[in-house]
Amino acid sequence: MLRIAGGRVHDPANGVDGAVADVCIADGRIVADVPGHARRIDARGMVVMAGGVDVHAHIAGPAVNAARRVLGGERRADVAMRDRVRRSGTGGTVPSSFVTGHRYALLGYTTVIDAAIAPLAARHALAELRDTPLIDPGFLILLGDNQVVYELIREAGGGTSQTLRDAVAWWLESTGALGVKLVNPGGAERWKRGNGRLTSLDEPVNELGVTPRQVLDALATAAHELGLPHPVHVHCHGLGVAGNARTTLDTMRTLDGRRAHLAHLQFHAYGGRPGGRPRSRAVDLVDALKAQPELTADVGQVMFGPATTITADAQISAVLRDSGDAAWISADTEVETGCGIVPYTYRPSSYTHALQWGIGLELFLLSPDPWRLVLSTDHPNGGSFLSYPRLIRLLMDREYRNDQLRRANEAAIRRTVLLDDLHREYSLNEIAIITRAGPARQLGLADKGHLGVGADADVTVYHDRADREEMFATPRYVIKGGEVVIDDGDLVAAPRGRLLRAGVAHDPEIERTLRPAFERRYTLGFDRYAVSEPWLLEPARRIPAAGERP
Ligand SMILES: [Zn+2]
Repeated sequence: MLRIAGGRVHDPANGVDGAVADVCIADGRIVADVPGHARRIDARGMVVMAGGVDVHAHIAGPAVNAARRVLGGERRADVAMRDRVRRSGTGGTVPSSFVTGHRYALLGYTTVIDAAIAPLAARHALAELRDTPLIDPGFLILLGDNQVVYELIREAGGGTSQTLRDAVAWWLESTGALGVKLVNPGGAERWKRGNGRLTSLDEPVNELGVTPRQVLDALATAAHELGLPHPVHVHCHGLGVAGNARTTLDTMRTLDGRRAHLAHLQFHAYGGRPGGRPRSRAVDLVDALKAQPELTADVGQVMFGPATTITADAQISAVLRDSGDAAWISADTEVETGCGIVPYTYRPSSYTHALQWGIGLELFLLSPDPWRLVLSTDHPNGGSFLSYPRLIRLLMDREYRNDQLRRANEAAIRRTVLLDDLHREYSLNEIAIITRAGPARQLGLADKGHLGVGADADVTVYHDRADREEMFATPRYVIKGGEVVIDDGDLVAAPRGRLLRAGVAHDPEIERTLRPAFERRYTLGFDRYAVSEPWLLEPARRIPAAGERP
């Protein structure tokens, strides 16, 4: 039992904005009170928030592991040594598994979702997540370039069907995933066949005749009708390409009427002509987001410095290799997806990089609703999660932001509205929304992101420092599941988290449809495909469908 006494509590999900209060913990949960003899943390003068929740990052699975292999130099420069609690490992932009959990916890983050796992790689992802302590992990499976899914969409006449709904639920159950991800749907499948870039949502992807618009429509509807805790998570077409905002807006219209999440919106917010200089269309995307209240998004902020692009968008990775830091990996996951990896450095002097950085800030500063547009760097694509404290300072501290604006490529910044009159500074409560309460709500995690009675006892206590970067980089205490894990920067315990997976039912008869389709298309036998229980980090936590939540 634990009492965090006298801190200023920022718990926006429960309408608490800086009130001085005690937060009490028993048996891993927030409770109304604990007896006087319970351990006491004196938090007077400090800021208390729920543990951070990352809605979109890349921390496990074969693509992340392949990235580690090409990042030898930066890993050798950042070696974490073993001690009583810590395992050894390496850091850099793509840390090893233990170091990933440790460094997230050092920042006060206790829940992290890996946004792109090929279903075939679920075992690998689960093995690494099991080895990543201190966070409750979850992951999204890639279904937007899957040939069996395309067969089901074609059989349904280009739309969704009960069969497709059951298949999606079966896939989630068979892999232990929390939700469904579409990456440039159709793009990887088309690119792998040498058919070039998609130029519209209505171009057939392969000989099955299915189009990207049909894939978006059918899977968004299936996820919506299943009431998945987190709706379909969409990485739009043409990532990073000038003019892509047109397709992003078209995608938003296609999703109309259904819940959906748009990943790293910044990378899809560019005007201009393909092949030419990009411009900002952040204002238009913010307006479109306002008009469709069932959509949520994360920003995918670019941060200056080293990054590693890891994406299932194999096609765009092939473009990035020309401007990246020498190495490139491209991989194919048979009938499911592809992947590309390019180490990358974002430079303030570069027009394109400075524009990307500026567009991310525009999205944050123009967003009318922090619950619907939350913080991410698409770690490690736009920058490491370790840069979150600096990003928070950019949002909270106008003087610091203006100083940084002056250091970035002037022509690019003039193309944004940042120099107009964007005086906005995020409040501590708004930061609590974009880093924990908002992502938890978007993910359907009712026990995360808040400090109400019954919530998971994941709590971060910060010194209230004027330098917000320093404040958010060095929490005084981090508590995971009721246990103090970080005490003044020291790791004092490294408990394993619990897998967060969707709990939605399907008709077992779906296997009669899927088995022959698998036998036609996959190299792996159908009976060996589903991940068996020991892999699932039991006891996992099943997150119920939206309609079943209290
Ligand atoms: Zn991503």
